[in-house]
Amino acid sequence: MASPNPSLHTQTRLTLAGQQTDGAYKSVSLPIYQTAIFRFDDTDGKPQYDYSRSGNPTRAALETTIADLEGGAGAVCVASGMAAVATVLALYEVGSHIVCSHDCYGGTERLLTWYKNQGKLDVTYADLTDPLNLALSLRPETKAVWVETPSNPLLRIIDLQKVGEIARDAKIDFIVDNTFLSPLLQRPIDFGANFVVHSTTKYLNGHSDVVGGVVVAKTEEEHQRAHFAANATGATSAPFDSWLVLRGLKTLPIRLRQHQENALTVARYLESHSGVKKVFYPGLESHEGHELAKSQQTGFGGMVSFEVNGDTAAIRALLTSTKVFTLAESLGGVESLIEQPATMSHASMRAEAREEAGITPNVIRLSVGIEHVDDLIADLEQALDVALEVTRCSTLKHKSLATTNHV
Ligand SMILES: *Cc1c(COP(=O)(O)O)cnc(C)c1O
Repeated sequence: MASPNPSLHTQTRLTLAGQQTDGAYKSVSLPIYQTAIFRFDDTDGKPQYDYSRSGNPTRAALETTIADLEGGAGAVCVASGMAAVATVLALYEVGSHIVCSHDCYGGTERLLTWYKNQGKLDVTYADLTDPLNLALSLRPETKAVWVETPSNPLLRIIDLQKVGEIARDAKIDFIVDNTFLSPLLQRPIDFGANFVVHSTTKYLNGHSDVVGGVVVAKTEEEHQRAHFAANATGATSAPFDSWLVLRGLKTLPIRLRQHQENALTVARYLESHSGVKKVFYPGLESHEGHELAKSQQTGFGGMVSFEVNGDTAAIRALLTSTKVFTLAESLGGVESLIEQPATMSHASMRAEAREEAGITPNVIRLSVGIEHVDDLIADLEQALDVALEVTRCSTLKHKSLATTNHV
């Protein structure tokens, strides 16, 4: 696979990605090398590709493209975001200690807690919005810090520069899950990250039709280690899935532009709504991490969370009344999604961990898609009206019950 031409803009490099892969027929669309095995010419040496778990040209084209976007030396595409998380964690010896941001992805928390219970890895969850908490959590056996910024679902921002400096001084690895922003909006390797992971299921593919993941490494040595782990455990991704993700990537710049524009409009609308207690979107001036986000991100992304007023019935009414927003987990696809983290995306988290991270049942998460924004606002408006009506009815019922009791 030819290296991307660095003199071209990212958007152009993405459009051209994979084009030079087919030496036989020069197809403009990257071929799907749907093969498990490759022929050897003789027994003198191994061909460039021998077996698709270890390497496949379609996957390699995607890996080169994502490594280029993140500014890494190389990347390994795997079967899911969790496979990417597991591939990185597989690099640490038994007994290693990892410090992890306390509101990380629920699946990451579940895997780390499982490893901890098995005695494989030890983990400390810390609120890394204050980087001092990293310094305070360090032990002699600490091998890495795991960061997600913006966090999920409350979109807290962690200072990548400061965490990177502490990690460097402590000689531990700095790992960032960059799923929420994509490399077009944030490049953790520029802040010293050794590994960046993504669930490509989300923005990178962007069409909610593939589950995939990637590990990007800062150095070639780290890339080789990640490749060894993915090949050894068999986590690598299939040719067809790799092809779909590469196709999705080509429109990432224009998709993100629309996601962000819509997200900001939706966030501003929610902020002005009386039924909404608080809106979490780093693009809002009212967001705690707004200035920090501005300094380390080139955009604010398409995820918006908010705390809605109302009881269980009202929240249920809101979640089941939207017609454009689909009630579903996941994020980053072209279509808008709505969900309740406490019962859906973060259900795998321990209840205490969830509480500590501030994920109450009243928190609603939106993945704002690329539809016409007027339809999105109108949809939220009518669903919030339904929720408000449910609240009003239950208040009336309580009042009348109270009156009856008096009599
Ligand atoms: C979805 C997600 C993952 C896990 O990815 P899968 O593709 O679902 O395995 C990891 N981290 C973040 C931030 C995610 O949103």
